[in-house]
Amino acid sequence: MNNENVHTLYMHGTDLCVLCQTCGRRSLVDPYKVNAWGGKGDMTPISEVAKRFKCTTCNVKNSYAFVPPTKEFAERWRRVDITETPGVE
Ligand SMILES: [Zn+2]
Repeated sequence: MNNENVHTLYMHGTDLCVLCQTCGRRSLVDPYKVNAWGGKGDMTPISEVAKRFKCTTCNVKNSYAFVPPTKEFAERWRRVDITETPGVE
């Protein structure tokens, strides 16, 4: 999905998956921290939200973020059992 936004994340009730495209670090961000930027009616695209994240490993702002389909998916994705990241070619 390319039209995900902060409101989508809120409705899903999952963490936001954030991938550092520089070093490959994967992290899950609590949706309430994301919502702090605009609330549940926030229509800011997730692609815009991703630009705000600076990687804690390599200190570079080069993140890709997406809303996972389920919490289970997010946990598996973080453990890198899933090699495919939606939306990343
Ligand atoms: Zn990084």
